[in-house]
Amino acid sequence: MVIMRFSEEQIVWQEVPGQTSLAYTITGCNIGCKGCHSTHTWPIGSGELLSERYFRTRLDAYDGLITCVLFLGGEWHQAGLIKLLKIAREKRLKTCLYTGLERVPATLLNYLDYVKLGPWMASRGGLAERGTNQTFINVITGDVENYKFWS
Ligand code: SF4
Repeated sequence: MVIMRFSEEQIVWQEVPGQTSLAYTITGCNIGCKGCHSTHTWPIGSGELLSERYFRTRLDAYDGLITCVLFLGGEWHQAGLIKLLKIAREKRLKTCLYTGLERVPATLLNYLDYVKLGPWMASRGGLAERGTNQTFINVITGDVENYKFWS
């Protein structure tokens, strides 16, 4: 049973370069990065239910308008996340996960086209910073594509 919940649903263009992404901020992160800008999303059980049925209705609503689905967190619901990633791929959409973890299991990577790895460290900055600790990886090619965030 999918028990994922989200605090925000939005269309974004910068988080996955070259893609128009429907993005879900999943609640319940317990990584605890110092300086996290999203502490309001930490409480488990907060936010709206992201059921498979709801997810399908949103993908149908955005049919032809989006090219990718992005999950900001949610790896702590691996089975539920994989179900949603499978649905996205059935719709021929790219998939991406932003996680504060340094690595994710291969069982999850199998359903991802892109992954952002690494916790938030204020002293190192985000993907736009060349000294960041975070990596944006094209899972299909294995390439690190942080350069796509540099101006
Ligand atoms: S992974 Fe993201 S949401 Fe979780 S604590 Fe770190 S910055 Fe906050």
